[in-house]
Amino acid sequence: LEADLGSTVDGVLAVDPDERVLGLNRAGARLIGADPEKFEGRSIQEVGRHPDLTDLAQCVLGGEGPLERHILVGGISDRWLQVHATGLVGTDEQPIGALLVMNDVTRLRRLETMRRDFVANVSHELKTPITSIKGYVETLLEDPPADREAMERFLGIINRQADRLDAIISDLLSLSRLEHYAESNGLERHDLALSSVLERTVRDLTGRWPDAEGRVTLACGDNLRAAVNAPLLEQAVGNLLDNALKYSSPETPVALDCRSLDDGVAIVVTDKGQGIGPEHLPRLFERFYRVDKARSRQMGGTGLGLAIVKHIAQAHGGRVTVESRLGEGSTFTIHLPTEAPA
Ligand code: ADP
Repeated sequence: LEADLGSTVDGVLAVDPDERVLGLNRAGARLIGADPEKFEGRSIQEVGRHPDLTDLAQCVLGGEGPLERHILVGGISDRWLQVHATGLVGTDEQPIGALLVMNDVTRLRRLETMRRDFVANVSHELKTPITSIKGYVETLLEDPPADREAMERFLGIINRQADRLDAIISDLLSLSRLEHYAESNGLERHDLALSSVLERTVRDLTGRWPDAEGRVTLACGDNLRAAVNAPLLEQAVGNLLDNALKYSSPETPVALDCRSLDDGVAIVVTDKGQGIGPEHLPRLFERFYRVDKARSRQMGGTGLGLAIVKHIAQAHGGRVTVESRLGEGSTFTIHLPTEAPA
């Protein structure tokens, strides 16, 4: 039994009716931060040092159970354990202790928190434009402005808010498609010259940014190739260029370069804009994370652009990184491996 328990990934802890530890496998010792060599004869309080764990064992020893609880065990990093506790009975049907089986559910709980936060964030983001549209429509219905100019101003606001809803929903759909690719590993890729993909991306910019032609310079050798999904890579680089133009003043340049690396290629977007403070960098690629909410909204931002870039890079087996200095500008780099992952 000991050999079996030693190799299982579940943590197993057995205590006798006096709350002394009878057995603790390696996984269990790791989960509760105990020494796997030093438990025999010691009490569960001494070995586990987690009051909730002791309490659970005591409940089962007192005749309750089977029980299941989530227990937070502190230490170097907090960890959530899902613990199933049952009474142990001897061959003569007499209680001889309690058995606790522990699983690390920290990751699951973190994902669950992220999912909840995401739903709350999406609802909030959608609610803002909808509230505004409703307000203006009600005003138009109840008290229509007499002059055409005021009417057009109201309709202009409603139109912008509807565009905003459209942009948020399009970005959310992009993200959900990207998650699907990541799960099914089904991204279609072709070996392409990067220069042709990037030239197209810059050309498409001019529809959104009339001054882009004068501001954006592209430097990419014709011999650089990578296995890419062209529409997605264009979307990612387009998002980075949009941001570079959006968060810098109109007279500053934006550079789009590509470089060869030992293990792949780098696509680099550099601006000389307002830059980003170091405290924001770790969370910059999270959904809906914005440094300056008001400015992002005013510029028509959804707060999802960089999350999309991150997911597109990852769907290619690559990653995106950022370096920035406040007041000096930012550099975003998409690293793509030359070899498509199997
Ligand atoms: P948004 O739609 O708000 O632009 P993004 O996900 O594209 O959302 O970017 C998140 C935030 O990161 C932006 O709101 C902005 O504060 C900051 N940011 C992104 N790119 C740049 C940049 N090139 N320069 C300065 N700030 C940037």
